[in-house]
Amino acid sequence: MAVIQQTSLKCLACGSTELGFGNLATPANVFIPTGMFTVYGFKSRAYVCLKCGTIGHYLPKDTVEKLKDKLSSSLK
Ligand SMILES: [Zn+2]
Repeated sequence: MAVIQQTSLKCLACGSTELGFGNLATPANVFIPTGMFTVYGFKSRAYVCLKCGTIGHYLPKDTVEKLKDKLSSSLK
């Protein structure tokens, strides 16, 4: 598991930026927005805090931008 310092992300529990990144290996780690007919959804990323062990979930920034585009176009 590669440790990547990503200053924008902090542990939700202790605020540490010492995080290890990866994916949770379950089908439940794909976020599928309500009302979207996609078989892919948006695959989340996960991190584990190397100080306190908290595991967090997030969507990468480029994915969030795609999601925003889709959501705003579906409202039109
Ligand atoms: Zn922590």
